[in-house]
Amino acid sequence: MKNKSNYLVISITLLFIAVVSCKKDAATTTTTATTATPVLNTPTIGTGVPAVFKKIYNATSIYVEGNYVVIKVTSLPDHKSPYYKGTQWASTQYEAYNGTNTLWNQNPNTIAESDVTFKIPLNPAVATTHASTPLGPMGVAINGVPIFNQYAAGGSPLTNEVNSFDQYNGHPQQQGMYHYHAEPYYLTTNKGKDALVGFLLDGFPVYGPLENGKTITNSDLDVYHGHFGVTADYPAGIYHYHTTTADPYINGNGFYGTAGTVSQ
Ligand SMILES: [Zn+2]
Ligand SMILES: [Zn+2]
Repeated sequence: MKNKSNYLVISITLLFIAVVSCKKDAATTTTTATTATPVLNTPTIGTGVPAVFKKIYNATSIYVEGNYVVIKVTSLPDHKSPYYKGTQWASTQYEAYNGTNTLWNQNPNTIAESDVTFKIPLNPAVATTHASTPLGPMGVAINGVPIFNQYAAGGSPLTNEVNSFDQYNGHPQQQGMYHYHAEPYYLTTNKGKDALVGFLLDGFPVYGPLENGKTITNSDLDVYHGHFGVTADYPAGIYHYHTTTADPYINGNGFYGTAGTVSQ
């Protein structure tokens, strides 16, 4: 009788240990699954989205809403960056600075997921008054990274900020939103110096610095930093912006067209 009850106690104890161990494993697995946000998302694409917008390859969704194309992004760059240091993506996305700027100076921010919704005109049109571009996102690159204008906080030039641009020419702001103020090197390296790199909020496309074998400079462009012409994506011709190596880099004195909206 004594022996039997001892066996029972041992059996119950073993069963208890087994249950606790399983629970612990299950809890660990669940936590990992909920915090892992991918840096690259293949977008779900709604009906009626023009082919050129399908070149945006990193977004959560792209769809048409009335006269607008809606683009939702996480702002996480699909390329590596020194600014991924210490983040949940560090093991695969961190890369020490290996660019050519001898004045490189990493800013204190690190990359964080920053959900942004761009609503841009389906049929871009020239505006009668050209609105200034906002601080914060003024456009989106084809890899889902927001495009900012040529100014730092308070409307001052980017003189010091440029030294915190990583080897792919971007950096995160205080809340961790990664962005480009100038040519996205990862895209012009992979897609070509003359490739479509993104769209501004007015719906007009942004191209890299090369066109028909010639490097575009600020003097080739109007005050908004663009011009009209045929591009690979628009054989009938369209107004478009170009990135240039000199300030103002992507946009000049405001939007050429009527801008849509951006929300965070
Ligand atoms: Zn910035
Ligand atoms: Zn051009």
